[in-house]
Amino acid sequence: MFTISTIAQPDTLEAAYKVLKEKRSNAVLGGCAYLRMGTQKIHTGVDLTKLGLKYIKEQDNCIEIGAMTSFRDVETNQVLNKYAGGLLAKAVAGIIGVQFRNAVTVGASVFMRYGFSDFLTALLALDAEVELVQGGRMTLAAFLDMPRSKDVLTKVIIHKTEGQASYQALRNSAGDYPLVTVAVSRLNNEWKIVVGARPTRAKLAGRAAALLNEAGTLLGAELAEQAAQTAADELPFGSNRRASAAYRQAVAQTLIKRAIMEVAACK
Ligand SMILES: Cc1cc2nc3c(=O)[nH]c(=O)nc-3n(C[C@H](O)[C@H](O)[C@H](O)COP(=O)(O)OP(=O)(O)OC[C@H]3O[C@@H](n4cnc5c(N)ncnc54)[C@H](O)[C@@H]3O)c2cc1C
Repeated sequence: MFTISTIAQPDTLEAAYKVLKEKRSNAVLGGCAYLRMGTQKIHTGVDLTKLGLKYIKEQDNCIEIGAMTSFRDVETNQVLNKYAGGLLAKAVAGIIGVQFRNAVTVGASVFMRYGFSDFLTALLALDAEVELVQGGRMTLAAFLDMPRSKDVLTKVIIHKTEGQASYQALRNSAGDYPLVTVAVSRLNNEWKIVVGARPTRAKLAGRAAALLNEAGTLLGAELAEQAAQTAADELPFGSNRRASAAYRQAVAQTLIKRAIMEVAACK
């Protein structure tokens, strides 16, 4: 179990970042579900609850999700359920159970870039940005390529680009970590294919998406199969105790094809 010596409840984001940087062992507290699994000795836990970061706001061109928003908020929010086929809501709905999803936060899930993350896989298929106190605003793809540093993730911004998306994942049993996650989107007529839990972090399959983009409206089952195979070939897969690399690759190919056909069928 992790331990915390003292708690700070800053009133501003700048104060939160200042406390975080004061000591190496200071850490931001999200829903604490993941922290609870470890043995980290935290000097000052930076509690963000006074900063008003638990929200989902629909703006004219985007949807903003505050860092302290829970997965249950994402799952039940009407705006997110309507956008891109409810991709984000569908991605989180299979994670453990309702009580768990009421606790875990969007900020921690994105900031930590977990390889197994259902949420990150789905988010990468959308037109998304993140905002950090020190790092500022950047695309999610740029954030994922950055080396990790101490910072506070304040919100996720999703541009409301028109389109559809599909989420697919396979677990050995309900409530387990996924052994492969797949999100496919067609936003503004541009395809994106994302595969996560490989078991490493979610990644875009660029060559496979290019095949679909070149085909335009001529997409059929054969091309979907070809794109799925290209995606499964261009991304690296690894083994762990949940599945072998070969099994993950085969499952990913099937899920990608399924997701492409689902998106293609949407008008
Ligand atoms: C048993 C278990 C099973 C899980 N299964 C799945 C699954 O199947 N699919 C899935 O997608 N996810 C799964 N998760 C991960 C979960 O969904 C959350 O992503 C994870 O628990 C982190 O959220 P939290 O709010 O609990 O973070 P915390 O435990 O509070 O924090 C985790 C880390 O993030 C840092 N942090 C927190 N908030 C911020 C912030 N705003 N800015 C910067 N750093 C921050 C903390 O300092 C800490 O280092 C699982 C987690 C657990 C514990």
